[in-house]
Amino acid sequence: MGMRLSVMVLAVLAQLAACACAEEPAGAAIPQPKPKAASVSFTDVGLVEFEAPPDAWVIRYTLDGKAPTATSYACCTPIRVASSLTLKAACFGPDGKSSAPVAVECVRKPAEQKDAKPKAAINVDFSATPDLTEWALRAQKDAEEQYPIMAEKLGSEGFSPPRQIMLVFKDDPKLQIAATGGTTIVFARSWIKAHPTDTGTVIHELAHVIQSYKRKVPGWLTEGIADYIRWWTWEPPERRGRINPARAKYTNGYQDAAAFLYWAEKQYDKDLVRKLNDQARRGTYKDELFKEYTGKELDALWKEFVESLGKK
Ligand SMILES: [Zn+2]
Repeated sequence: MGMRLSVMVLAVLAQLAACACAEEPAGAAIPQPKPKAASVSFTDVGLVEFEAPPDAWVIRYTLDGKAPTATSYACCTPIRVASSLTLKAACFGPDGKSSAPVAVECVRKPAEQKDAKPKAAINVDFSATPDLTEWALRAQKDAEEQYPIMAEKLGSEGFSPPRQIMLVFKDDPKLQIAATGGTTIVFARSWIKAHPTDTGTVIHELAHVIQSYKRKVPGWLTEGIADYIRWWTWEPPERRGRINPARAKYTNGYQDAAAFLYWAEKQYDKDLVRKLNDQARRGTYKDELFKEYTGKELDALWKEFVESLGKK
């Protein structure tokens, strides 16, 4: 009975709230973000949803407790959250006006079972490139699906991969392809417009987020491992480039190094990439590790790989 009554009271209150909004004089007030719930609790990744703001208004938000500014990320999809925090959102208008911030409490509860493959909270801001909406949403989906698999492949003891990740799309002529800094990946609109099928760039950049190298690692290995993840664990085989034995060198990084690592793994040590990545992450990578793991020096191993290409 009491339960029923309170449901009715809530329904009436909700109606009252709806009426109050409708009676506001049009154009006069600055709209406030309307979260679908004042708090969100979750065990893995939480979703914070807002009602769509009025036309020409954008909801911007922060996850660090600070008030959002005109340069904070724009809300383009339900906002994914990976940990307990206070999300703050405000509406920004075309004339620079903004509302007071609205807070949404996000509470992560301990999971009953520890998930060996935790998901990541991957947000996208394509507010500056509305023509990339479809591309950005697919990037978000690919990243969400692939992240746990990648994190396991590049896992090491005592390391938890970052779980709060941002994909930003910018229309900036100075930007080439994409760049990853910490847990933020910035994509260049110009590159995506010219290469719309290059969706694997997302996987490559995401690998850099998981690599989380803090100390100096040879560039060829960093890029080789990222391309190994992209081309040898994600892309369909027919999309892989052919390695030209006359010009290829592992020091070129990228696809040359990726194909080499894949081959060496198959031939000598099925855990080679994980082990190399672990050493790189700890800042203890050195070329001599190839000898330790495969029994062969790096350059000898490369020579053997190039010879194997001619035999196919
Ligand atoms: Zn890279």
